[in-house]
Amino acid sequence: MTYFFETYGCQMNVAESAAMEFVLKERGWTPSGDAEEADLVVINTCSVRATAEKRVLGRLAHYQALKKKRPFTLMVTGCMAERLGEKLKERVPAVDYVMGPAYRSRFPLILEAIEKGTPFVETDEAPVYRFASSHLEEGAFRSFVPIMHGCNNFCSYCIVPYVRGREVSRDPASILEEIRLLADRGVREITLLGQNVNSYRWEGPLSFPEGPWELQVWREGPLTFAGLLELIAQTIEGTPIRWVRFLSSHPKDFSPEVIRVLAEHPVFCRHLHLPVQHGSDRILSAMNRRYTKGQYLDLVARLREALPGLSLSTDILIGFPGETEEDLEATLDLMEKVRFLYAYMYHFNPREGTAAYSLPNRVPEEVKRQRLARVIELQKHHTREQLKSRLGSPVRVLIEGISRKNADEVLGRTERDEMVVVPGDASLIGTFGEVTLSSLRGNTFRAKEFVPCHGD
Ligand code: SF4
Repeated sequence: MTYFFETYGCQMNVAESAAMEFVLKERGWTPSGDAEEADLVVINTCSVRATAEKRVLGRLAHYQALKKKRPFTLMVTGCMAERLGEKLKERVPAVDYVMGPAYRSRFPLILEAIEKGTPFVETDEAPVYRFASSHLEEGAFRSFVPIMHGCNNFCSYCIVPYVRGREVSRDPASILEEIRLLADRGVREITLLGQNVNSYRWEGPLSFPEGPWELQVWREGPLTFAGLLELIAQTIEGTPIRWVRFLSSHPKDFSPEVIRVLAEHPVFCRHLHLPVQHGSDRILSAMNRRYTKGQYLDLVARLREALPGLSLSTDILIGFPGETEEDLEATLDLMEKVRFLYAYMYHFNPREGTAAYSLPNRVPEEVKRQRLARVIELQKHHTREQLKSRLGSPVRVLIEGISRKNADEVLGRTERDEMVVVPGDASLIGTFGEVTLSSLRGNTFRAKEFVPCHGD
């Protein structure tokens, strides 16, 4: 039998789709290159913005029409499935299964029912988020590794805590087991995932299987993100995994301990995504971010001191209710002081079900657009300026794929998250090499020669 995935939203959804594919393949299912021919279509959805949900509803209408021509199973997973539940079936009757992330343990049972052509019988089990054991896409040289799920922060504009639920940390034994599997399969780079990785906290027993990895846990009390990073650094020593990244970090939870561990282990890439959202203390407080502009700048200073060469990216949300020109100036000032390498910039759109939905003093659409344009303009300038300052530098890159513009070139990424095009072919994908950044086109560097890193 064949399946087809449509995945929307964040990297957590990408990882969860990969985990579901793993289960499908273990059961003998094969991927279909064409949704129009698949026996099972899974839409993994995002609820963060109303536009993302609208897009999914459009796709569901398409599949509803397709179902009139041929039979297949249509399943909706992800945040929209969690948020709307069975109501989604009332809205789009062609949907056969709605499975929110907390119900993912039902997936094999649903598959069994599809395979046998029998109805799926729901159990009374309470919804609990369970981490999958592997998120590796076949043949991939890098992989996501979820370490925690959910969020307790309730930023006033964000729907995530309502759809993903409270924070749950994954058993470190299972995280390290997955990382070992990835190392055995020759993976070169991993990205630890969670809505707020810095609040990782494991209070259960620490039991690691015997093996060539003798792990040392010398701390008393719960295992924090810093302790987990130390265990990961020990686990991947001597394996093909050379780079470790993590996403996303809440600035208020970025502890000095984590900074110390990052500084001690160069395997953690010198790039951090540190969402700031705004530069005005008044707006940060209304957003319930629980840090001030001064605290954010202090964190950036400590990070830069401990991690030379660090690049930073961020998220910036403009036009929050009550935002004034002065608040905008505070954001532009913060950007001037930090100099992010790049930023995801967007304007506020009220999301039903969040605290900010009913806030008064909404900023008019036109003003939001104008302010966002100023922020984007400044960021473009900072990106350009920083990239130009890197010209002539020797850097290590991991080759990711063939260049879209020229089949004789490949595209690589530096640990600072900069893109570089170098001459080469598909045989280089998944390998590390040294290059010199010789020119810049748009935001992509070019290098004349790729020197493979032997033994790497
Ligand atoms: S930290 Fe805030 S923005 Fe991030 S997922 Fe949690 S509530 Fe949403």
